[in-house]
Amino acid sequence: MAKVQDHYKTLGVDKKASQEDIKKAYRKLARQYHPDTNKEAGAEERFKAISEAYDVLGDPDKRKKYDRGGSVFPGGNPFGGGTAGGGSGGATAADFGSFSDILSGIFNSGGGRTRTKPVAERGKDLETTVTLSFEQATEGAQVPVSVATHAACTTCRGSGARPGTSPKVCPVCNGRGVEAQGQGVFSITRPCSRCNGSGTVIEDPCPTCGGEGRLREMKRYRVNIPAGVREGSRVRLAGKGEPGRNGGPPGDLYVITHVDPSRIFKRKGDNLEVEVPLTIPEAIRGATVEVPTLHGSKKLRVPAGTKHGTVQRLRGEGPRKLDGKGTADIHYRFVIDVPSSLNKEQEQAVEGLAEVMNGNPRAKLFAGRS
Ligand SMILES: [Zn+2]
Ligand SMILES: [Zn+2]
Repeated sequence: MAKVQDHYKTLGVDKKASQEDIKKAYRKLARQYHPDTNKEAGAEERFKAISEAYDVLGDPDKRKKYDRGGSVFPGGNPFGGGTAGGGSGGATAADFGSFSDILSGIFNSGGGRTRTKPVAERGKDLETTVTLSFEQATEGAQVPVSVATHAACTTCRGSGARPGTSPKVCPVCNGRGVEAQGQGVFSITRPCSRCNGSGTVIEDPCPTCGGEGRLREMKRYRVNIPAGVREGSRVRLAGKGEPGRNGGPPGDLYVITHVDPSRIFKRKGDNLEVEVPLTIPEAIRGATVEVPTLHGSKKLRVPAGTKHGTVQRLRGEGPRKLDGKGTADIHYRFVIDVPSSLNKEQEQAVEGLAEVMNGNPRAKLFAGRS
């Protein structure tokens, strides 16, 4: 059997944590212990444990089973479930009476159809995160990512049975994978409690994988991150998820991007925004100012009388759009730089200004009031 770990402890969450909290905790830890960035001893092991915990707790059904004390194999067993090994009854008692099982039993019972062949099942999708610099996100980059996945156990070649032995037809259901319950017309069937519906049992489990047939493995890829990704973008790698079971197709791998913020450029939808300070005279008289672009700088003409918060845009200077439809813009937002202290000379100049610009701009706030 696989090592027992307390998945809640691994993720550092409470047993009552919401799915959202679990996801958050997972993402945070996954980033922290990601072997691409964390080279400390034990980080990779920790990362695998975190991935394993999220495999279970991130899936509400598996979590429920886990909470009830049923055995939940992290990625599932090619032969269907947790009780394959010594026939320990973990899932047996736990699954009995589960509403969804009974329902599926009802739907499976019509016509006495039985499952003789294992159903091909698509592999699970996987998720991993990658941290990008702001430049990598805007320009696109090829980055290494690691992901904890499963691979067929090499000792038993995925059968789960000790080499030299093989899985046996389940003695409880005779390989049908279901058990009948009740009698007559209304008898319902449910997945076999001994083999969990797979129709086979492993009497002598493989010592390497404990009967699971697969092992945790770190896969490494170089991923082309397209230009224009943002914080939380999902890059899909088709077919790089968990392998399918019983001939099913593999799942996909999603790489979630974490983008380090830029000191200068802020994201505004597709576009970028830059705050450009102007001196008071520049705002009043107008000026030509140099502003940063992604690849250097450009000159902008600031008209006389530019107000605080005015925006000018440079079309097409922004990052490439993710949907491939051209490039976005950079918005330059002018802010008037008001000094908090003045030297003698400036003080005199402001005094002179106050004398000649002495209207009351607030008069209109009160005009026409009774
Ligand atoms: Zn069975
Ligand atoms: Zn094995």
